[in-house]
Amino acid sequence: MTEFCEWRDAPKAEFAVIGDPVAHSKSPLMQNAMLASMATDARYVAIRVPKPDFEEAMERIVGLGFRGLNVTIPLKEMAFKWVDSLDAAAESIGAVNCIDIATRRGRNTDAPAFDATLNQLGLPTAPRVVLVGAGGAGAAVAFAVAARSWELSIWNRTRERGEQLASRYGGIVLGTESIRMSEFDLVVNATSGVGEVDLPIDWNSAKVGLVAYDLMYGKQTSFMRAASERGFRVFDGTEMLIEQGALSMEGWLGVSIDRAVFRRALGVLN
Ligand code: NAP
Repeated sequence: MTEFCEWRDAPKAEFAVIGDPVAHSKSPLMQNAMLASMATDARYVAIRVPKPDFEEAMERIVGLGFRGLNVTIPLKEMAFKWVDSLDAAAESIGAVNCIDIATRRGRNTDAPAFDATLNQLGLPTAPRVVLVGAGGAGAAVAFAVAARSWELSIWNRTRERGEQLASRYGGIVLGTESIRMSEFDLVVNATSGVGEVDLPIDWNSAKVGLVAYDLMYGKQTSFMRAASERGFRVFDGTEMLIEQGALSMEGWLGVSIDRAVFRRALGVLN
């Protein structure tokens, strides 16, 4: 079975990620490896759903008998409105990235997935965090950081969006001047711009031991390159992807999921 399709051509399957664009998603690769390891016939596909088609596409997908959906850009807010009930993270963040079709329950697994990866970073106790980017993923990060009562600063290209996030989760909003990194132990890049995105990070002021965490996976960003060139420890979004995928599948199937199967499928050594 093909792993990518347009919503009008969606096959009968059990699980999918919907979004636009979605052809690049690694979720079918890792979730199908997981399903194969469980010796089930269930399949996971990537379905392109343009934003204006969301309602019609959901009707078709439900009619085809899908059990669970992951939702990615730009549909997480529409998914939030589509579901009948929400978990606490989704309700607070205002975005759903995981739907159980039978119960029409929406969850946000990005926030707990980000939280789970924090233990792998070797951070000091109560680290000071600067979040760059205040979109949906940025909100998931702010939710997780606030839940740990860590000190948070937020920079966003559109300042008002950063202010909205700070009003919900606390935190200092940084202005457009360059971000003085000496004050931080962890910098999280939650912007979606690829390639040469110009973020106002003053890397030269960073202290030894700074951890640079980019939520992007499968691509080297200018943020990752700048941090690693200066010798800082760099993490990308692969572990968060794995964790949110595992949390999604655990919710749908009600069994615990071995993250190592995902890591092997993605070729990640850990
Ligand atoms: P989003 O809601 O569309 O938000 C995009 C953010 O990026 C906004 O803060 C936006 O600023 C900023 N931005 C975009 N282009 C920029 C540029 N050229 N310069 C500066 N800022 C720019 O997207 P999202 O859902 O939060 O996703 C953000 C990133 O997280 C993506 O790379 C996504 O792949 C990644 N992600 C990873 C995982 C994972 O499991 N690893 C999960 C979720 C998301 P404005 O407000 O000014 O527009």
